[in-house]
This record gives sequence, structure tokens and C-alpha cells, in this order.
Amino acid sequence: MKTDKSNILALLRNSADFVSGQQICEKLGVSRTAVWKVINQLKEEGYQIESVSRRGYRLSASPDILSSSEIASRLTTKWAGQKLYYFDETGSTNIDAKKCAEEGAPHGTTVIANMQTAGRGRRGRMWQSPPGSAIYMTIMLKPDFAPDKASMLTLVMALSVADAIAETTGLQAGIKWPNDVVVNAKKVCGILTEMNVESDYIQHVVIGVGINTNNGSPEEFPEEIRQTATSLKIESGAHISRAALIERVLFHFEKNYDMFVSTLDLSGLMEAYDKRLLNLDAEVRVLDPKGEYSGIARGINSSGELLVEKDNGDIVQVYAGEVSVRGVYGYV
Ligand code: ATP
Repeated sequence: MKTDKSNILALLRNSADFVSGQQICEKLGVSRTAVWKVINQLKEEGYQIESVSRRGYRLSASPDILSSSEIASRLTTKWAGQKLYYFDETGSTNIDAKKCAEEGAPHGTTVIANMQTAGRGRRGRMWQSPPGSAIYMTIMLKPDFAPDKASMLTLVMALSVADAIAETTGLQAGIKWPNDVVVNAKKVCGILTEMNVESDYIQHVVIGVGINTNNGSPEEFPEEIRQTATSLKIESGAHISRAALIERVLFHFEKNYDMFVSTLDLSGLMEAYDKRLLNLDAEVRVLDPKGEYSGIARGINSSGELLVEKDNGDIVQVYAGEVSVRGVYGYV
């Protein structure tokens, strides 16, 4: 939702020079008092805004602030994140997004939090969600396709996050099939897709994304994931604006989702996905509860299954459901 605040913020961010109060009023159709009020609010939130009489206002620094206005001021999407909820602290953004869906929120509604107290991963695992340094976001969808297509959305999101990270940080972001985004062989992002189905009809799907963004050092991660987890700041050395990265995730997701919906499979995205697939043509171990086995990963098929070639030449189509894949030498 664009508001006076997000519009003023966008105008200031996109102007290298001072913008006068008069220009803001004319461009946005708001009163002088409204401008003055918003500028004061922004200063209180931590934005550094210079005010010089007769010249106007200039945004000289915006720290890594997460708020609805900050994110809305950057959005370029048609539907992804156009309805937005932000919480300083919440249990789980997936649970919040499901609640929004039940209360009638539109397709694309997005919930963002600065901290989660009960972040979750697949199969009841935990997602470590410390405050202030990471992105916790969930997009809610109300799709018009059969429930058996929904598992592919996890791959659509993994590709979108990897593209967003690469674009924002310049890092090489890879994907460990199906849903982990990895930088330098460590996990920076986890994705959890959940859906609500009634009589074979999808009521809603929520796709939760956790991205370790500005965690400063490996010691900030709990002991049990220190070997496999990392953050964008640790890998790039640079502090990253979470709002800027969220905007890129929503932008890429909207584009990739629309492509997915046009064929209801991954045929239009497979090539891009396989380019980011870390295990492509490498040996992997498939941790299938019915029996583990090894083979060479040969990319995904148009349903998002991983094709694994066994020693005898047979190709197994691995369905993500209950299975984890590991590189033979470790996590990737
Ligand atoms: P895999 O395929 O590697 O077995 P998964 O895809 O099933 O993992 P997820 O559900 O995506 O796993 O994430 C949960 C797991 O991620 C946890 O069990 C933990 O090992 C790891 N983890 C938890 N929090 C974080 C974090 N903040 N950063 C990186 N890894 C984490």
C-alpha cells in the first residue's frame, strides 16, 4: 500500500539533491503540514534528513530500517506485497499469513517481521530467527490450480531468492535442491511452503522465507548450525539493506510465479533453476526414509523433481516431500 509516508520516502530516496516542500506537495498532492509531519516521523524512526531553508529536504542516510513504509516506498510489483503487514516481533510469519488469508486478505499479501519467536522449517524443524539481522517474510497466495502443483512453488521461490541475493550483493547464490539457498557452501536461506486445502481446492498457500542477512559473525549462530549456516554480510563483508532485498525477492517472485502459472509447471524456469543448482552433475546422497542411495544429480524435471542417475544408469525422479539431499562430502 502506498501512503503519503511511503511516497515521500520514495521521492527523497530517488532525488540526489534537495527537494523542496513545495515540490513534494505538488508531486504528491499533499498539504505542507502533512509533509512536515511525515518528515518529523521519519527523523524519529532514524532516517537522517537534512532540512535547509529555501532548499528543502535531503535524505542523507537511511539505516537498515524495516517498516511497512520503507518496504512500500521501494515496491515495483503489481500484486506481490502490495498488501503488507510488518511486525517487530511475531511467532511465525507463516502463521500470521494464514490468518490474513482466512480473514479475506488478497493474493500476494505479505507479512514481514524483524524477529520470530517460533520460526519453523520443514518437518517440524526449527528456523533460528534472531532479531534485527535477518529477513523473515511470508507471501500468501490464493491460486486457482490443483493442490498437487503447489510443491513446485518452493522451487519458484528458491530461484527468486537466489536471483534477488545475486542482484543485491553480487554474491554467487546457489540452490541446494529443493529449497535451500546457499552461498559459499553454507545455507543463507530456508523456505517453508504450507497450504490449506478443502475438498481438493486450494484455499491458500503461504511461502515463508528466512534469509540470514546482517548476522555479523559465525558465533551469532547456535552451535548446531555454525558449520552449515552463514549470512550475506559474513560472505560479502557489506551491510545489506533488508528492505532493498525484500523488494527484489518480491519482484523476482512475481515475475517467476506468473511464468509458472502460464504453464502450471517449471518448464519456463527449469533452465534458470538448473544454472543455480549446486549439485548439478555432482554426486549426491539421497536421504530417503525408505532407504538411502547415491547417484549423480542431473537437474530437475518440469515438475521440480530432482533427476538422480544411479550407478546402473537408472534415473530416479526424487520427489521433495520427505527427502533431503546431501553432497557426498558434506551439506552441499
Ligand atoms: P535439508 O534439506 O538440508 O535437510 P531442510 O530443507 O529440510 O534441510 P529447512 O526446513 O529448510 O531444512 O530448515 C530447517 C533446518 O535448517 C534446521 O534443521 C537447521 O539445521 C537449519 N537452520 C535453522 N535455522 C537456520 C538459520 N537461521 N540459518 C541456516 N540454517 C538454519
